[in-house]
Amino acid sequence: MTVRTRVAPSPSGDPHVGTAYVALFNLAFAKSQGGRFVLRIEDTDRARSSEASEERILAALRWAGIEWDEGPDVGGPHAPYRQSERLPIYRRHAQELLEAGGAFRCFCSEERIDALRPSQLERGQMPGYDGHCLGLDPDDAAERAASGEPHVVRLRVPVEGACSVQDRLRGVIETPWRQVNMQVLLKRDGFPTYHLAAAVDDHLMGITHVLRGDEWLSSMPKAQLIHECFGWELPEHAHLPLLRDAQRRKLSKRRNPTGLDYFRAAGYLPEALLNYLALMGWSMPDERELFSLEELIAAFDLDRVSTGGPVFDMEKLNWLNGQHMRRLSPAAFVERVERWGINRERLGRLAPLVQPRAERLSDVVPLADYLLGERAALKADAFAHKALSTEDCRRILHHALRALQSEAQWESAALMASMKPLAAAMELKLRDFLFPLFVAIAGRAAALPLFDSMAFLGADLTRARLRSALDALGGVSNKAAKRLDAEFDALPLAGRSAAPAS
Ligand code: GLU
Repeated sequence: MTVRTRVAPSPSGDPHVGTAYVALFNLAFAKSQGGRFVLRIEDTDRARSSEASEERILAALRWAGIEWDEGPDVGGPHAPYRQSERLPIYRRHAQELLEAGGAFRCFCSEERIDALRPSQLERGQMPGYDGHCLGLDPDDAAERAASGEPHVVRLRVPVEGACSVQDRLRGVIETPWRQVNMQVLLKRDGFPTYHLAAAVDDHLMGITHVLRGDEWLSSMPKAQLIHECFGWELPEHAHLPLLRDAQRRKLSKRRNPTGLDYFRAAGYLPEALLNYLALMGWSMPDERELFSLEELIAAFDLDRVSTGGPVFDMEKLNWLNGQHMRRLSPAAFVERVERWGINRERLGRLAPLVQPRAERLSDVVPLADYLLGERAALKADAFAHKALSTEDCRRILHHALRALQSEAQWESAALMASMKPLAAAMELKLRDFLFPLFVAIAGRAAALPLFDSMAFLGADLTRARLRSALDALGGVSNKAAKRLDAEFDALPLAGRSAAPAS
């Protein structure tokens, strides 16, 4: 048997470090077994998926040093590898499940199902679909469907007993069937849900092992049931522990740098990042911490993957990155520095900002130091201002982060168009409003134009600096964050598109 693994990102946001982590383990395991590693794009959620996100995810994974044998951009024997291009396959399989009795048509409206909620909660039941259409005669239901009546296809879940699934790292896990919902498999729009599409694709693409984040553990009973209905063998599953922050919370983009683009822009070496991610769920038999991807592959053993929640520790990553820097020859080092950011293209982008303000060529570096490299560490007194209290500075930084959270066009004019109305809504003079932002971005109140600087740095570094400025001001407790979020949500901002706090 050839081992085949996959990573299956949904292209609905920024490239996430967790995707590289899961991809790395799948890659290392497949390659350690002489197998193949597949990249599949799970874009069946039409409202949330975008081509731009897919492109960025592929580019970021490649930057990180993850290479796949089969995928939407490189093709392969099981193409297409983008789920939105495989719709007839899922429809055909949904039909087969209906015929085999593993699924049923449901004509209930969402309103009907929502209306069940209060009484279910009152009775202490799990809210959700109540099986109203389970008893419909399949032929009648097929006729209603053929006449165009809107409906979904749901998984038929046993009512009694328990399901037992096997996880390679965690052993057997039992779940009472009544805790498993009658999952929608095919939506009204004819698109499959994740559960149907992933099961069908894992089978058709010959996936033998599924390594993924442990947030997916609870979906295993459904995957197993779907495989059983088709008479397919379930791939072996191993759920990797989720990455956590120092407070042991799931890494969240609101609180931590989670974007792969952040790590690239902040000057991490991809091999160091992969080394670090490997250490999050794995240790070398000889406990050596510094290793390359090839060394990982040579030593990889799935049974050595640990299930303890690994804490993402920037200090440790910095140390490891330094170690990998020292491994480079001087020529390779120079080449990396250039590729990273000190190059003609980036100097060209700096020229319009720096040229009008420099008297000598030697002014270039001091003017642009915070754009070419990390800005100086901040202390709270950097935010001392005659018209603003510490709390005002905190509020400005928090609200700016919220407003920028969903900024799609990361360029100077768009950033200005998002920040100016925010200052007005907060009833602050623009100059005062910009002060803590300048300090956060540049480390000082007088610097190159703010919005150009933010555009140059990019979204990930900008957000990371705003967050670290908030930390320098003492951080924001959960309680304070709730209050600030509520304040932000109540601001009179026209056409607001800021994502809700999550
Ligand atoms: N598309 C899912 C995700 O975004 C993949 C889950 C899986 O690997 O089964 O994480």
